[in-house]
Amino acid sequence: MEITIEQALQQGVAAHKEDKLQEAERIYRAILKSYPKDPDANHNLGLIAVSMNQIAQALPLFKMALDVNSNIEQFWMSYIDALVKTNSVKEAKLAIKKAKKQGFDAKKLETLLPQSKVLEARIPYNNCPLCESNNISNSAVGDCSKQLLYHPMIPSIMQWMDCGDCLHQFINGHFTDEALEVIFSKQPENQVVGYQIEEQRYISARIIEKVIPFKSYGTWLDVGFGNGSLLFTADEYGFEPIGVDLRKDGVAALQNLGIQAHCDPVQNLEFEKSISVVSMMDVLEHIPYPKEVLISLYSKMDEDGCLLISMPNSESWLWKLWSKENRNPYFNSIEHYHNFSKTRLVSLLNECGFNIKQYGISQRYRCGMEIVAQRN
Ligand SMILES: [Zn+2]
Repeated sequence: MEITIEQALQQGVAAHKEDKLQEAERIYRAILKSYPKDPDANHNLGLIAVSMNQIAQALPLFKMALDVNSNIEQFWMSYIDALVKTNSVKEAKLAIKKAKKQGFDAKKLETLLPQSKVLEARIPYNNCPLCESNNISNSAVGDCSKQLLYHPMIPSIMQWMDCGDCLHQFINGHFTDEALEVIFSKQPENQVVGYQIEEQRYISARIIEKVIPFKSYGTWLDVGFGNGSLLFTADEYGFEPIGVDLRKDGVAALQNLGIQAHCDPVQNLEFEKSISVVSMMDVLEHIPYPKEVLISLYSKMDEDGCLLISMPNSESWLWKLWSKENRNPYFNSIEHYHNFSKTRLVSLLNECGFNIKQYGISQRYRCGMEIVAQRN
């Protein structure tokens, strides 16, 4: 089957986002075979080269992308950043001048120059964010600079910490509001309401069917609903859907469809009805202090309410082998604050009043686990 260049590019970007760099590189190269000047394929291939520290190879790719389309700020940023990394500061300054002439914000581009200040991006955790122990020490180090949400104003090094008491692993600090704004200025397309609605319906149905043996009716609150698929499908199964998300666009889109949706941290919300099912799919690892959110959710739920949580499991063999081979993608995951093990998640849920009903693996993201728990 013939696929269009746009489709090929989408596949490449999807693989790229999932950190499947070899596959992404193969697709970008295939595009360039037919269209050697395609700006996106050139640019993204350049990003992969940078991530492998092959800056010299990235430069002509970024240059080509700009020659064909100089209206994309990201192309300028990548090019200037690569020039700085090869110590070509003069050329970088020249490029900034050119970009400025085209109407781009020179101040923002100048942040890429070596003397520019990097954001004070994180508020450090002085204690373990789960058990408050101060017995914490440095652990693995990651590098988020090749992530799609990365911005050069954010430090690229990610220092993970281990708690000596509860054995939880967490990043050394959560982001300031200013840093969050920089990171979330980009919206991944899989977070747009209605994204792949047909394919996602099957994945969502499998998730809902895991809950139904324990709770089969009532309100379904999805925290961080993203593309909305779980709520659409829960509605179909007879639940009353309620969405919470921090992306304003998504909340507005859901409200336009007549679905109750809120744009606030869930712990700040009061709901009219008691909540029967709460789902947090790949959400808890992004929350600075997960325990206070779980305790607050407990107070809003039916006595036999169900909680569904998915996230990567740092106790799986896949995770351990990735780490051993120095290719654990989650150490570089810019928007994650926590690396939960199954054991630590289960004990946290117990501490907050939930009983584990079922363990399963998640198909949503790599190395995912999916836990169904119920209120005591
Ligand atoms: Zn701890």
